[in-house]
Amino acid sequence: MDDVNEKAGHLLGLKEDELVAFVERLGEPKFRGRQIFAALNARRLRSFDEMTDLPKSLRATLSARATASTLTVESRYIASDGTRRYLLKTHDGLPVETVFIPEERRDTICFSSQSGCPLQCDFCLTAKLGLLRTLTAGEIVEQIIIALNDAYGAGQPTPHGTNLVAMGAGEPFLAYDSLMKALGVISAPEGLHIVANRVTVSTAGVVPRIRELARVEDRPHLAISLAAPDDELRNRLMPINKKWPLGELLAACKEFERSLRPGERFTFEYVMLDGVNDSDEHARQLARLLNRHELRAKVNLIPHNPADPLPYRPSTQERVQTFKAILESKGVHAFVRRPRGRDIYAACGQLAARRVEAAPEPKLYQLA
Ligand code: SAH
Repeated sequence: MDDVNEKAGHLLGLKEDELVAFVERLGEPKFRGRQIFAALNARRLRSFDEMTDLPKSLRATLSARATASTLTVESRYIASDGTRRYLLKTHDGLPVETVFIPEERRDTICFSSQSGCPLQCDFCLTAKLGLLRTLTAGEIVEQIIIALNDAYGAGQPTPHGTNLVAMGAGEPFLAYDSLMKALGVISAPEGLHIVANRVTVSTAGVVPRIRELARVEDRPHLAISLAAPDDELRNRLMPINKKWPLGELLAACKEFERSLRPGERFTFEYVMLDGVNDSDEHARQLARLLNRHELRAKVNLIPHNPADPLPYRPSTQERVQTFKAILESKGVHAFVRRPRGRDIYAACGQLAARRVEAAPEPKLYQLA
């Protein structure tokens, strides 16, 4: 599963014990492994040269045998609401997007699990790229480090708690091994120390992985993208539904629900598309569907974020409020999500290696 980056030795993809084993193979004592793990993940240093507390010879060996960073920042955009979007590039030239969303008491980093995406959700811009490649664990961890360093300065403490959402490009459950490995690295108290309880993974509905995650003890929160209350419409909007239709999806959700801790809930996401899935009848159907499966989940209504090649418009605010009221009248908890960073194309479904300024020359992955 580990690909080229890990073979080249991307140390951000290694847990502390694996890093210790790696330095031992180099003939170094264990404590050097722990020291390097902390330098990479807690101090967030991005090159061995900066680890001046290591002997020079060791730094040289590390540089020859491994790498501390493989992503480069192609461009960075800052939205009027403070949201920051990073267009990163992998060592093999593929686009990766990460979004940093500051909030009063916490920050949220939205990371990508794949470059591009193989699912063809009709309302999502990333889908238009197709799948370029699944990211490695190291590439996932590195996105978090780049965003924190940019927001707070390299190695500086982060004043707020950090939440993570796997809602960038890609389908996290098709990057399951990389994702789970990365979350292991990220949760380490000696490193970034962002625990699973601070992480939400969003899936378009890869049913076997929902069932698998239900059995993981220290697991992230789950969000399921629904977008439609019936199979016919969902087949059209999210073709993954042909493989795992709503009946199967919601049965898996029910199983997941049984594994929740007291007070914990999971979320359905419902992107609101004007005149497509936002009528009163759709709201009633959605409530009936969730109630039939006896799911206590909450529903997040996401106003569609427009992007040029997408043939949809966001539902009006009034429509969203009516839709929400209908759900609530049927006992379904619903919340309206505020889009962040729309002006820099940083919002949900707008990620696709898109540059904001007029690009002087066409870029390989540019869509608009
Ligand atoms: N593949 C995963 C995670 C990435 S998308 C998934 O499907 O859940 C994260 C969320 O953004 C999903 O709920 C998706 O339905 C939503 N989304 C995609 N395109 C959007 C758009 N243009 N406007 C608003 N939300 C969108």
